[in-house]
Amino acid sequence: MVVDTSVEQFAAGLRGQLIQQGDAEYEKARHVMNGMIDRRPRFIVRCADVADVMACVNFAREEGLVLSIRGGGHNIAGFGTNDGGLVIDLLRMKGIRVDPANRTVHAQGGCTWGDVDHATHPFGLAAAGGVVSTTGIGGLSLGGGMGHLTRPFGLACDNLISADVVTADGQFVVASEKEDPDLFWALRGGGGNFAVVTSFEFGLHPVGTIYGGPIFWSIDKAAEAMKFYREFIANAPDELNAIFGFLVVAPGEPFPEHLHNKNTCGAIVCYVGPPEKAEDVVRPLREFGPPALDGLGPMPFPLLQQAFDDMSPPGILDYEKGDFATELTDDIVAVHAKFGPSVPNFLSGVLIFPINGAAHRVRKSDTAWSYRDAGFSQVIFGLDDDPSAMPRHMEWVRAYYDALHPYSAGGSYVNFLMDEGDERIVASYRDNYPRLQEIKRKYDPGNLFRMNQNIKPSG
Ligand SMILES: Cc1cc2nc3c(=O)[nH]c(=O)nc-3n(C[C@H](O)[C@H](O)[C@H](O)COP(=O)(O)OP(=O)(O)OC[C@H]3O[C@@H](n4cnc5c(N)ncnc54)[C@H](O)[C@@H]3O)c2cc1C
Repeated sequence: MVVDTSVEQFAAGLRGQLIQQGDAEYEKARHVMNGMIDRRPRFIVRCADVADVMACVNFAREEGLVLSIRGGGHNIAGFGTNDGGLVIDLLRMKGIRVDPANRTVHAQGGCTWGDVDHATHPFGLAAAGGVVSTTGIGGLSLGGGMGHLTRPFGLACDNLISADVVTADGQFVVASEKEDPDLFWALRGGGGNFAVVTSFEFGLHPVGTIYGGPIFWSIDKAAEAMKFYREFIANAPDELNAIFGFLVVAPGEPFPEHLHNKNTCGAIVCYVGPPEKAEDVVRPLREFGPPALDGLGPMPFPLLQQAFDDMSPPGILDYEKGDFATELTDDIVAVHAKFGPSVPNFLSGVLIFPINGAAHRVRKSDTAWSYRDAGFSQVIFGLDDDPSAMPRHMEWVRAYYDALHPYSAGGSYVNFLMDEGDERIVASYRDNYPRLQEIKRKYDPGNLFRMNQNIKPSG
């Protein structure tokens, strides 16, 4: 039971904003991106600085409150909010400093990938993030982080150089290879289990204008297109990333009208090698049958990273399931060819992220992210703004996943898990799980940080 005097003291010590039930902003502040999540935390703190984060961690621990950490709010399981507890909302902590000489960026925990792109692009530099600019750098990079730059530069977590964190006992620590290396190891894939990261330091890469975009083929060619893609990507240089997808063409610009609302399959391409080689590298994609839509060309990197933003507006209802695959075997292709063509609407779809290239050059024990031997990370997502349509979409996602899972590599990328139980979490970390449990016991023995794909402290 939290008494009023301790709340008053807590509130008086904050520089940021404390939002409680009855406050004008409470309704908006309690929600995360996924409109299927309907939770009512007791306290939401829009932290202004590290001191606020420390105060929140201490208050939640001392008062026995459930604690959520929210960056971009995109976690589909809704861990960024809770019932009756406290939410550390990092929304206002958006400070960014680019160091162009050393090719690094320091970005506070409230930044999205769009914020990072905005800061780095003028220097002709980019960080390896995801494929939607409104996703938070926090949840994505701590869980791993796949996107348009995975094959050239690895996962987002592979590019983490250091992290300013507040641990469960309210202490401030800078974790890196040299300082608290165990914690640093765990942060790279272990999600929000270990600390609140107040600022991330990422390595940057010389990426300004890329050659890429979407190339879609007729859905009748689904199986052939996937078989072509698996050969293509296996032989492509690391400078090329291509995410395979089953999607529905959005009914609007820039797509031609005859394709609106049509089911399609194709690849979303990002080539960061020498511009004069780009046309040659992507030529096989164009030569594999005539594309229904060829959107490939030079473009600023941030434009590609914003291309899917409209598919996931705040409050959209979202249900997803994911699985790793070692190879795109004929069995896997057959499942996709059966279910992929029935993506229900232009907000929904299937993405198959390649996680080879630079991501494979990191050994599975080098970071908490274990699946270095998987070639692909697959996610099936059913989205709608109409609640009455969701049971149908969920059934499609589940049937698809049930057919695919027997051929999977075992676990899932933790950021594509919803509430799927401990077994799936353990399977996702495999051999790294016991070490993660040890580190959890050292840094968070009371499991204060448990609103996540939870790693239980050992013992
Ligand atoms: C539209 C959409 C697109 C996506 N695209 C991709 C993609 O391209 N690639 C990819 O890899 N994943 C992708 N994802 C999955 C994404 O990585 C996860 O949803 C991730 O959790 C989102 O991070 P967030 O900060 O926005 O979420 P939040 O809901 O704010 O945070 C999720 C969890 O991460 C932890 N966390 C967040 N910030 C911090 C912090 N500063 N310190 C400690 N813990 C923290 C907490 O446990 C929190 O509950 C996508 C998800 C959506 C909904």
